[in-house]
Amino acid sequence: MRTPLIAGNWKMNGLSADAVALADGVVQRVAGLDGIETVICPPFVHLPGVAGRLSDGIHLGAQNCADAGQGARTGEIAADMLADLGVRYVILGHSERRQFYGEDDATIAARYAQALGAGLRPILCVGETLEERDAGRTQAVVAEQINGVIDRLGSDTGLGHGVIAYEPVWAIGTGRTATAVQAQGVHAFIREILGERQPGLADTMRLLYGGSMKPANAADLLAQPDVDGGLIGGASLDAEDFAAICAAA
Ligand code: PGA
Repeated sequence: MRTPLIAGNWKMNGLSADAVALADGVVQRVAGLDGIETVICPPFVHLPGVAGRLSDGIHLGAQNCADAGQGARTGEIAADMLADLGVRYVILGHSERRQFYGEDDATIAARYAQALGAGLRPILCVGETLEERDAGRTQAVVAEQINGVIDRLGSDTGLGHGVIAYEPVWAIGTGRTATAVQAQGVHAFIREILGERQPGLADTMRLLYGGSMKPANAADLLAQPDVDGGLIGGASLDAEDFAAICAAA
């Protein structure tokens, strides 16, 4: 059985007092929920402050890590620095990183390897743009993004230590959610790819849906057989909304 995972991606929001208040609000409402795993991913600078507020079952996540180990990489954060702060999960390949910072499958695979080396669990984000969906290329794009990482990691990938988040770009921060049927369709396809590449992985690897997930649509999405959780942006900035999504899982 795959334990449901709900991860909050705070993106680039909040000053330190906001981060601590939000973490406290989440812990208050989510601690004690059985049978699910929760992750909150604050901006790097708030990780130490938030780390001190978390309780059992609520893990700390980061929003990226460097594609190389410690050294001459101005402005980057190495994976072992994150592990040292108590970080357990790290979001990689988010569409905003791909779009605004030019991250491609090669750098994302290198980041993935670094994360695994530091004992972190990567949350690999994949998903198509609206243009790609309209052109009927959703499966091709998602397959390319996943295979792009698997191919570079090699056969003994450790891929299974991570999680995949399907986030259609057109649904991120737009209020436009994929329907449960659309999400389930792509998730089932991702399991197919995993099964072809690494038999065994298809059944065990958790697949999250992300893109305007909120309390009103969470239950429907999370009820799909291949949707094992969610990566929540906007709604994770409201402790009550985030907790409601966790409860729906
Ligand atoms: P959203 O963001 O929930 O605000 O659409 C999801 C994400 O970008 O991870």
